[in-house]
This record gives sequence, C-alpha cells and structure tokens, in this order.
Amino acid sequence: MPPPGALDNRARRLLIIGMLVLVGVSVYRLYYAPPPGPYVGFSGATMGTTWNVKVAGDDLGPGSLRKIGAAIDKALDDVVERMSTWESHSEISRFNASASLLPFKVSPPVLEVLSIAEEVSRESDGAFDITVGPLVEAWGFGKAEPASSPPSDATLAHIRSRVGYRGLRLDGEAGTIAKSNPRMEVDVSAIAKGYGVDRVAEALEGLGHRDYLVEVGGELRARGMKNNGQVWRVAIERPSDEIRTLHRVLALRDASMATSGDYRNYYESDGKRVSHTIDPRTGHPIDHTLASVSVVHPSATWADAWATALNVLGPQAGYALAIREGLAVHFILRSAPGGFEVLSTPPFAALLAATEALDPTVPDESQPSQE
Ligand code: ADP
Ligand code: MG
Repeated sequence: MPPPGALDNRARRLLIIGMLVLVGVSVYRLYYAPPPGPYVGFSGATMGTTWNVKVAGDDLGPGSLRKIGAAIDKALDDVVERMSTWESHSEISRFNASASLLPFKVSPPVLEVLSIAEEVSRESDGAFDITVGPLVEAWGFGKAEPASSPPSDATLAHIRSRVGYRGLRLDGEAGTIAKSNPRMEVDVSAIAKGYGVDRVAEALEGLGHRDYLVEVGGELRARGMKNNGQVWRVAIERPSDEIRTLHRVLALRDASMATSGDYRNYYESDGKRVSHTIDPRTGHPIDHTLASVSVVHPSATWADAWATALNVLGPQAGYALAIREGLAVHFILRSAPGGFEVLSTPPFAALLAATEALDPTVPDESQPSQE
C-alpha cells in the first residue's frame, strides 16, 4: 500500500498530464487539424456570375483557410481588373476606348488570353472571335437594353466592317496589341471565366494544395481527390429552360471542363430563340439544333474558348473540328420538341466509360450558371 500522500501526488500528476493533452489537442485542432468532411468549400461572385472552390487535403487549419480565401479573391480580382469590359479602367477597356492604330502595351496575362483566343479563332476559321463585341451589343446582349426589333441588315453590315479577329494584331515579343480599325473592340467574355479558373488553380498550387475543384460560372478544373479518397465528379446539365436536371456525371481527374450552351442566355423574338453567342461569319446569333457543347481539356482557358467555338460551328462542322483537334467533346442536340440526342468524340466517350467504372454517386459540382 503506498502512503496516502503518494497517491495524491500521482493523481495530481495524472490530472496535469490530462489537462496538457487536452490543451494540446485543442491547439492542434484550432491551428492544424483539417475540418471534418470530404473538403472545405468557398464561394463568391465574380464576372457577373458565381464561383465555387472546394479544397481537400490535410493542411486546412484556419490559417490555411484564410490564405486560400484571400488567394482566390486576389486571382479573380486580378482577371477582372485587367480584362473586364465593365471596368472602365481595365487594360481591355482602355484599349477599346482608344481610337489609335499604334501598338498598345498590355500585361502578360492579357497577352496570354489574347494569344489563346487568336489560335482558337484561326483553328475554327473565325467561328471564335473576340472582336465580336459590337455585334453582341447590337443583338441586345451588351450593356444597353435589348432593342425592340433585331438590327437591320444595313446596321449589321456597318458593324461588321470593324469586326474580325484578323484585324487585331498581337506582338508577343513587344507585348503589344494593335487595331486595324479605330472602332475595333475586344470582348473576352467567352474565355475569361476559364482563364479565371486556371488562375485560381494556379494560386492554390502556389499554396501547396493538390486536391481541389474550382468552378467559375460553370467552367471547372479538378485536381487530386476528396478526403474520402474519391475523385471529383462534375455534372453536365440537361439543357432545359426552366428546371436544372442532371444529364451526365463525369469523374474529372486533373482536367478542366467548359460548357457552352444556348439554353440559359437567350431571349425570344417572334417565337425564335436569340442566343448570346454570335456567328461572326454571318453577324447573326447562332441558330442550329445544338443545345450545349462540353469540352474537357487540361486547361480551362482552352476548354472555354473551344466550347464557344464549337457551339458556333454547330453539330456537323463542330464535331469534325473536334475530331481533327483530338478534343474530348460532348454535344447535346435538340431533336423533337423537348427531346435531345447526344454525340461524344472518342476521348470524351472514354471519360464517360471511366466514370461508369467507378461507383455512381451524386456529383460534387453542378453547372450553376452559364454567364
Ligand atoms: P457560353 O458559356 O454560352 O459559351 P460564354 O460566356 O463562354 O458563353 O461566351 C459568350 C459571350 O462571349 C457572349 O456574351 C459574348 O460576349 C461573347 N461572344 C459571343 N459570340 C462570340 C464568338 N463567336 N466568339 C467569341 N466570343 C463571343
Ligand atoms: Mg466559352
């Protein structure tokens, strides 16, 4: 039997050790331990749409979460400040406002986006064209209220004299762009969301994260997996005007996906659907049976530009170009009223098959908006 005083001492020692362990666990949980659940979600608004980011991994204490939030905001704000046509001081707005034909200095990010846009324009034979802004405006999808009637042929012919990507000259070495017509304008709306996704992914990589899903206005990029060991899954929506329903789920692993569709951003005129995507070769909004085009590509910037380009080209020419370029693309075509048909290129069909080989579960990210 130990003497009575010794037991007291041991109990006190145990109590102190117990308290130290408790304090240690609390400090660990507060500063280092990842929050429970498969990932941590962040969200906000940018470029007239919403963004959602999900991050998994074991370095997600409050300090890391604050850093992630700040890095996302910085990356997206930077894109808006340089490229938005709604910010009068952005580089692109200042270029648009200038009537000079002299070379105009732009920052490397702007040059990067314009170079990718130029290449997709060339490959799509002008279906993708970032000088199309004045036509977008004339059809009522710009800053001004839509006109009560469609623009006349004479108005369109007049506007088209200052539209055409070939009239925009890029000099990569000098870091400049130049107009060939004083009233030429640049509008990167069809590629900026994808670029924003890539910049956010880059910012997360810079903080050491390798498991994330980034989405801006429906354009996505995924890397790694969730804390439960599952790969990220994204949804392709069924193109329907009223309700949002699921069409296909895709497991996205170290890849981006962008979708271009006419089922969200349009208005009706004389019973006809007027899309916000313009065919630069006719000056008119696209008018074919294609309801949506989803492109999977390593880069969200390229995926976004390709999705719009293939949407302009339509099901036949778009499919032929996707095959020629070896792109992973899923087309949804309108058939009978309310009905749809689908068409996948072989690389996309392989992605669908790989998804089906995994356990079917609900997607992590749907496509919340198209603009
Ligand atoms: P979607 O997701 O439907 O492709 P985006 O937001 O990517 O739509 O692009 C549509 C926007 O791009 C339009 O609102 C317009 O500003 C611009 N745009 C329209 N037609 C073209 C085109 N042919 N090439 C490039 N940009 C276009
Ligand atoms: Mg696009």
